[in-house]
Amino acid sequence: MLNIKDLKLIIRANNLDETLFKELANVPQSAFDSARGRKEGAGEPCPYCGGNDRFKVKNEYDGTILLFCRRGCFNGKMNADLFDAISKARNVGLSDARKIVEDYLTTHGYVTGYKGARR
Ligand SMILES: [Zn+2]
Repeated sequence: MLNIKDLKLIIRANNLDETLFKELANVPQSAFDSARGRKEGAGEPCPYCGGNDRFKVKNEYDGTILLFCRRGCFNGKMNADLFDAISKARNVGLSDARKIVEDYLTTHGYVTGYKGARR
């Protein structure tokens, strides 16, 4: 079993962040498109609670993608990572979200050969 740190390293190494938000957490392509060309302050409909402009995809300096919903979709967290987003999208706990990511990475061949994070 891989921990969340290992999964994040595999995701980063294979540039899978956006793919996994779309495939496993129901974030629409349009939210990523507008994140790239966004004017300050503009938002999107939230894929989880609706609205018109309360949701944003945020690209962090290190390549991490975070989600923001002004309505507070993520259990009080202002910024949701992939695991928070899967938890919300699928109504499962974080350990199940971790398992969903591990299963996806395993099924798609990304785990084979992974030797574990340097700690
Ligand atoms: Zn929301």
